[in-house]
Amino acid sequence: MENVKKLIRNNSIYSTPYLTLSSDKFHEECGVFGIFGHPEAANLTYLGLHALQHRGQEGAGICSSDGRQIFIEKSMGLVTDIFTEKRLKRLPGDIAIGHNRYSTAGASSLKNVQPIMVNFSLGSLAIAHNGNLVNAVELKNDLEARGAIFQSTSDSEVIVHLIASSRAGGLYERIVDAVRRLSGAFSLLLMTENELIAIRDPYGFRPLSLGKYDGGYVVASETCAFDLIDATYERDIEPGEMLIIGSGGIKSIKPFPSVRQASCIFEFIYFARPDSNIFGNLNVDEIRKEFGRQLARENPVDADIVIPVPDSGVPAALGYSDESGIRFDFGLIRNHYVGRTFIEPRKSIRHFGVKIKLNPVRKLLEGKRVLVVDDSIVRGTTSKKIIKMIKEGGGAKEVHMRISSPPIVGPCFYGIDTATRKELIASTHLIEEIRKFTTADTLRYLSLEGLLKVVRNPEKYCAACFNEKYPVFSTQDTVEQMKMF
Ligand code: AMP
Repeated sequence: MENVKKLIRNNSIYSTPYLTLSSDKFHEECGVFGIFGHPEAANLTYLGLHALQHRGQEGAGICSSDGRQIFIEKSMGLVTDIFTEKRLKRLPGDIAIGHNRYSTAGASSLKNVQPIMVNFSLGSLAIAHNGNLVNAVELKNDLEARGAIFQSTSDSEVIVHLIASSRAGGLYERIVDAVRRLSGAFSLLLMTENELIAIRDPYGFRPLSLGKYDGGYVVASETCAFDLIDATYERDIEPGEMLIIGSGGIKSIKPFPSVRQASCIFEFIYFARPDSNIFGNLNVDEIRKEFGRQLARENPVDADIVIPVPDSGVPAALGYSDESGIRFDFGLIRNHYVGRTFIEPRKSIRHFGVKIKLNPVRKLLEGKRVLVVDDSIVRGTTSKKIIKMIKEGGGAKEVHMRISSPPIVGPCFYGIDTATRKELIASTHLIEEIRKFTTADTLRYLSLEGLLKVVRNPEKYCAACFNEKYPVFSTQDTVEQMKMF
C-alpha cells in the first residue's frame, strides 16, 4: 500500500491512462430513484428520473414490481424520450426503482443501461447503482474464474453476481455478504418482488436521501427529485447504512466496519443540482454562492462586470459579484437544447461543443473588463474557447478567469468523470501556463483551504481530485496498473 501511495505521489502510475478500465466503462456517475408503497410507482419514478436527468443522459431504465413479478423497461436516450405512456403502462405495481446512466467516451450501449434485473435461486432482483467500485476488476476476475458469465461491462453487474453466488443464508445476508466485499463508491437501490433496499457505502461518497410520499417512501440521489413530486425529505441514508423498506415499515442495518466519511466535494462544485440539498441537508446553491464569495475574497480584481459560464458557474458568479460589489449579468447565453458537451461520446462532436452551446452578448461585453466565473477546469479546452469567444465575439477589453474550485490534479476513482491524469491540465501545468493556454488576462482558482472552509467539516469530504488523498484503493487495481510499465 505504501508503495502504491508513493507511486501515486510520483504520478507514475497515472501516466498511462488509469482506466484502460475506463474504456471498459468502469466510470460511472448516474442518478437513482426508488419508491415503495404507491400505486403509481413507475410514473413517479419517471418524474424522479426526469429531475435527476443532469446526473446522466446516456440511457435510463425503470423496474417495477406488483408483488409477484418484476417488470423492466430501459433504453438509450433521455428519460422523456424513452418512457412513452405505453411503456409506463407496462410497469405495474407499488414498488419501482429507476436509473439514469452517464456516458463517457467508449462503449455506450444498451447492455450497460440499468437497472439490472436477474432471476436467481431466491427469486427476482433488480439493482440500480450510482458510483464506481475500485475493486470491480478484481471481483470480476474472481467471479469469472468461478464460472460467472457477465452480460455487460458495467461494474454494477459484479454486485448482482456476488449476491447470487453468496453462500450466506437468506437474501439480506447474501446482500450484506456481497456489499461487504465492495470497495469504492456505491449508492445502491435494490428491489425484490416485495421490498425496496437502499444501501450507501461506508464512506458516503455519493448522496442518497430518504423521503416520504403519500403514505409511501421514496429514495433518491438528490432531493430535487422529491421536490418535483412533492415528497418530503426525511433524512440522508447514512454512510454505511442499509435500509430495508417493506410492508412492515423500515429496518435499518449498519453492516460495514466504520471508516471516515468521505463524501464527494465535487458534488457541491459541479455535479449536483443547485436546488438539491445533499450531505446532511446542505443546499448546493448556497454552498456554490459561498465558494464564489470566498473566491472573491481570495482573488479580487478590477473588473466592470461579473459573468458566469452557464449553468454551472452561475451561483459562484453571483457569490463573487455579491462579495466584490461588481455587477453581475449573463454575458454568455446558453442554448439549452444541446447536451453537456462533456458528455458527448464522440471527440469530434465535443470539439464543436462550446460554440454550439454558448453565445456572447456583445452589447454587455464590448470594451469591458470582464470577470468570468466557472466552477472548474478539467482539460482546459472549455475555458480556452470561452475566453476566445468573450474577446472575439463579445469584444471584451480584458478577460479575467476565476474558478470556484482548486486545480484538479488527480483523477476520480469514485464515479466523477474528470478524465485521466494525463488529460487533467492542472496535473501537468502550472497555473501561469494554464493562463497562457487559455489566453486569460488573469487566472485564479479558489484555494483548497478556502473550499474546505466553506463546507465546514472538511474531514467528512473526499477532495482527492484536488489533494490526491484517496480514501480507498484497490490494491489489485493498482497492481494491474503497475503491470502496464
Ligand atoms: P474542460 O474543457 O475539460 O476544462 O471542462 C471544463 C468544463 O466542464 C467546466 O465548464 C465544468 O463546468 C465542466 N465539468 C467539470 N466536470 C465535469 C464532469 N464531470 N462532467 C461534465 N462536465 C464537467
